[in-house]
Parts: sequence; C-alpha cells; structure tokens
Amino acid sequence: MRVAVVGGGAVGLVAASDLAARGVSVTLYERDEPGSGATGRAAGICYDAFAGKLDAAVAERALTRYREWELLDPCPYVWAARERGDETAIQGQVAEMQSHGRPVERISPDELGERYPPLRTERIEAAGIATAAGLLDTDAVVTRLADRARECGVTVETNAPVSLLGPTTVETPSRRTDFDAVVVAAGPATKPLVADVGVSLALETYRTQALVTDPFEGALPSFYDATEEFYWRPHGDALLVGGGAHATDPAEWDADADPAFVEAALENVRSSTTLDPTFDRAWAGLCTAAPDRDPLVGRATDGLWVATGWQGHGLMRAPAMGEFVAEQVSGTASRIDAPLSTRFDPTRFDDEASFDPLGDPTADW
Ligand SMILES: Cc1cc2nc3c(=O)[nH]c(=O)nc-3n(C[C@H](O)[C@H](O)[C@H](O)COP(=O)(O)OP(=O)(O)OC[C@H]3O[C@@H](n4cnc5c(N)ncnc54)[C@H](O)[C@@H]3O)c2cc1C
Repeated sequence: MRVAVVGGGAVGLVAASDLAARGVSVTLYERDEPGSGATGRAAGICYDAFAGKLDAAVAERALTRYREWELLDPCPYVWAARERGDETAIQGQVAEMQSHGRPVERISPDELGERYPPLRTERIEAAGIATAAGLLDTDAVVTRLADRARECGVTVETNAPVSLLGPTTVETPSRRTDFDAVVVAAGPATKPLVADVGVSLALETYRTQALVTDPFEGALPSFYDATEEFYWRPHGDALLVGGGAHATDPAEWDADADPAFVEAALENVRSSTTLDPTFDRAWAGLCTAAPDRDPLVGRATDGLWVATGWQGHGLMRAPAMGEFVAEQVSGTASRIDAPLSTRFDPTRFDDEASFDPLGDPTADW
C-alpha cells in the first residue's frame, strides 16, 4: 500500500510514522518545513483533564507516548473558576475525570496559594489539578517526530506544496503521483485542499496568540482561568501566556501578536499573581474548529482521509490521533474504542455553512 500524508505538523508526522511502522510505503509532503504550522507555534501544554470517556482515553494514550519519546516534562495543570456556583461544575468535572482513571483532584484556593505562592487566590472560587500533565518543547517535538518519521522509513519531502488532482492523486510543483490513499493533515489548508476534489468540510479557522515573559522568581503550575479564558505555562524561568483568540480568514492573517493582546495578557498575569511581568516575545498562530468542537478525523471519501479541527488541543492529542488515523487507513485494530470513528467522522455535518469557531460548545466536554 502507498500512502501520501499532506502536512508535516505533529499530526501528519505521527500518522506517517505509524503508517510506515505498519509496513505502508509513505511519502509525507510538507509545504515549508516540519512544524511550520500551528505545531511550531503552540504553547505546549499537555494534559489528560478531560471529562468525556473517549477524550480521556485519547489523552492517556497521547501522554503515554510522549513519555515514551521522552518529550514530556511533568508539570501539574490547574484549571480555576472565579464565579459563585462554579464549585459544583468543577466538582462534577473532577468526579467524571476520576471515573475514567485520570489522576485529577479538586484543590482549595488556600492550598493552591500555599503550593504556588505567586498565585493570588482570593478571587478563585474553585479549582481542579491534573497531576499527570506536562509540558512539551515544540522544537524538540518537531525534531523528534521528524527523526522518527525518517527512522520508520517515511520519505519526507519538504518545501513541497501539494494540491489534489483526485482523492488519491497528489501534485507538487515537480510531479504528479498516484497513491492508494491520501491523508490530509494540513491544518486550515485541509479545507481548500479537499474542496478541490469535491469534499466539503465544516471547518473554520481562528487566530490565537501567545507571549513569553521575562524571567520571574517562584514556582507556578500550568494554569487555565476558565472565567477570563486565558492560560499560562511555566517556560524555563519565565511564563508563556496565551489567549486573544478570534475568528479569522486563514488566507489573510498576521503572525505577529497584537499589542492589545500583549497588554491584556500581562495584565491577566498581574491580576492573578504577585508578579509584574514584562514581555520578551509574542506571536500568533492558527487553530481550526468544527461546529461541535470535536475534530474532523477519518475517511472523507474513497481513498481520502482528513485529520484537522483540533480546537487548540491538537498537539497534546497528536500521538494518539495520528496513531488512530494510521490504524484506520491501514485497516489495523484500533487501540481506542471504535466509537471515536463515528464521533469524529468528518462527514457528520450536512452542510458547510459558516459558524463561529469560538462559539458555545454543543458537544459534552
Ligand atoms: C498560540 C497557540 C498555542 C497553542 N497551544 C497548544 C497547547 O498548549 N496544546 C495543544 O495541544 N495545542 C495547542 N495549540 C494547537 C496546536 O498547535 C494544533 O492543534 C496542532 O499543532 C495541530 O497540528 P497539525 O499537525 O494538525 O497542524 P499543523 O501543525 O498546522 O500542520 C499542518 C502542516 O501542513 C502544512 N501544509 C499546509 N498546506 C499544505 C500543502 N498544500 N501542501 C503541503 N503541506 C501543507 C503546513 O505548512 C503545516 O506545517 C496551540 C496553537 C496555537 C496557535
């Protein structure tokens, strides 16, 4: 069997390697260099704090593989809410996560303050902590996954922008090649690529931003403020702070962060901690989403597979979901429950009417 994988982000690299490891002849085409899409711009937070059973299984598998590849630096992940009544919601989430075997627990604002002295906890109503979570260095992830692809026997073609002439026919500027199957894991570009062969995807793009502060004293966990919708993670002796998401046209976007985001992100840190950070560097990247906030992963039409729509969680799930794609394409048994293929079926939406990629979730997670 000969398979083309389009896209050298974390998902395409894992899928390509796992296909090759199953005896498939794989060529991976990357428009620029591996990691030049969202993967190289990600914050690198990786956790298993998912309340849904399948999401928890995906996260467990992904964390296991990142640990095996020695890419995961342990760091607890705390999520906190600031509104009265949030206590019950966090209690319910923690109970569900625990029922799927996830090592998470509730943590009181006082205890959070004792463990992480820079954190201001007086406005926190409720919080949970995931102790198996960790941090990824995106450069190290890309290097390791690209090395693994080559070691598994994948032919990696870089600076090779692809278009599709048919579901299994790939064209680069230098030649046209027929395959038995094609997997498109090209981030936002997945939608226009497959549209050329008559496949419509319910996929929208949003732009999200991050900055790294100057170094600070003291220990902090990875932290998500569910009320104000921002997050940070320790980054060496500094903090990486993220947020500022908004819908965008993937054909026209600015890779530099907005000054307004930088100001708001630093202010978020000031109001949630005793720190007074300044910033070192900032950037933006693109994320993709489907209407129900679940990804689009699976067979789109005969011979053509897609893997996109990660709603900002693609890096942490890549080891499991790339593997899932490889299992599906090669027809080998899936490690994770079969309902995943129904739930993530890329053809589950009837039309491709545009929607707000950051709107309220309709899915239960
Ligand atoms: C600021 C920011 C912070 C984030 N933080 C996190 C986080 O903490 N944890 C997490 O799990 N996720 C995070 N994400 C999301 C995560 O980065 C993505 O979900 C994930 O990287 C998607 O991987 P991918 O392989 O699907 O896509 P990408 O990494 O976007 O890879 C797609 C690749 O396809 C290539 N391509 C496109 N068109 C073509 C073509 N025609 N021919 C050939 N190649 C093509 C691109 O060049 C690109 O390299 C973050 C994203 C951003 C922007």
